Amino acid sequence: MTNDKVILVTGGSGLVGKAIEWVINNDKGKFGSKEKENWIFLNSKDGDLRSVEATHAIFQKYKPTHVIHLAALVGGLFKNMKYKLDFLRDNILINDNVLHTAHQYKVEKVVSCLSTCIFPDKTTYPIDETMIHNGPPHESNFGYAHAKRLIDIQNKAYNEQFGDKFTSIIPTNVFGPYDNYDLQDSHVIPGLLHKCYLAKKNGTPFIVSGTGKPLRQFIYSRDLAKLIIWALREYDEIEPIILSVSEKDEVSIKDVADSIVKAVNFEGDYTFDTTKADGQYKKTASNEKLIKYLPDFKFTPFEIAIKESANWFIENYDNARTGNDKP
Ligand code: NAP
Ligand code: GDP
Repeated sequence: MTNDKVILVTGGSGLVGKAIEWVINNDKGKFGSKEKENWIFLNSKDGDLRSVEATHAIFQKYKPTHVIHLAALVGGLFKNMKYKLDFLRDNILINDNVLHTAHQYKVEKVVSCLSTCIFPDKTTYPIDETMIHNGPPHESNFGYAHAKRLIDIQNKAYNEQFGDKFTSIIPTNVFGPYDNYDLQDSHVIPGLLHKCYLAKKNGTPFIVSGTGKPLRQFIYSRDLAKLIIWALREYDEIEPIILSVSEKDEVSIKDVADSIVKAVNFEGDYTFDTTKADGQYKKTASNEKLIKYLPDFKFTPFEIAIKESANWFIENYDNARTGNDKP
């Protein structure tokens, strides 16, 4: 047991944490479980990571050698617009507690999670890893964005002052099984899946927020999970790495709605509520750095990933997170 790795996954009950657990348990190739790796998946009932004491108690209990840090206050455009201070404070507290406690417990490596939505609003495209701090984020999510940007600053500071191996990954918009399907506060794919499911069930209109024109790159949670497992085992830089499908796989919100209509077999018409916000028009990110490391990585085709997510949601409707997920 002494040489075993103890890998603690904060936020292990969420969309991304559950996908990592699934890949560790189900992937028969290089991303699946390995001898001498003990994986521990935490949820908020194991301790509130906004509390220094609770965070210490968790590290004392598990004595992790490695940490994948996913726990965060997370939400889509509309939740970010409503709770800017909560997004700023909760995430600053969680991140500071996890990173500083990992430092104190001499954790060998921490991989934390940023997001492509933290990049500057006014920028050139494609966005790359060097551009995180080049200007203010979009005003709709400045609380979340500034808290997340600080992780990158902290990683560099821990490394430069103490040599800690703390790094970060930058996913685009994620979707898949175990997502948050709240009608108001979720991200666009789970939100629209839920709305389309209800429209079909109740014979009511399916209404998509905004104009449908914004562009996004989406990553299937199980693909992201594989890439995070790779990053933990093999990625050696402190600098962040964008984990994204290629620029040519960017889709519009209308494309997303069309795919969901197909996956749910919804036969009615749908409309756009243009009184609702569009958010940032696009955040096109480059996956060039990732592809240099993993030239053969195969992403799940978008339509297949949407179909798997829709099937999971329909089969698990009674237990899925569909409530009003306020902080
Ligand atoms: P999620 O489904 O909302 O899950 C959040 C996780 O964090 C849950 O396990 C939750 O525990 C835990 N958590 C929240 N507050 C906590 C607290 N105060 N103390 C302890 N645990 C707490 O989120 P996700 O979508 O998997 O996101 C994972 C990471 O990816 C986050 O860092 C997020 O910023 C990043 N990310 C997500 C997206 C996306 O589209 N979803 C895109 C880019 C980056 P409970 O289940 O017990 O509540
Ligand atoms: P973002 O990618 O960080 O902006 O976050 P979201 O996943 O919330 O996506 C927001 C985009 O999807 C905006 O252009 C919204 O107008 C559009 N959208 C359309 N319908 C919905 C919905 O039901 N929920 C959410 N969150 N966004 C929606």
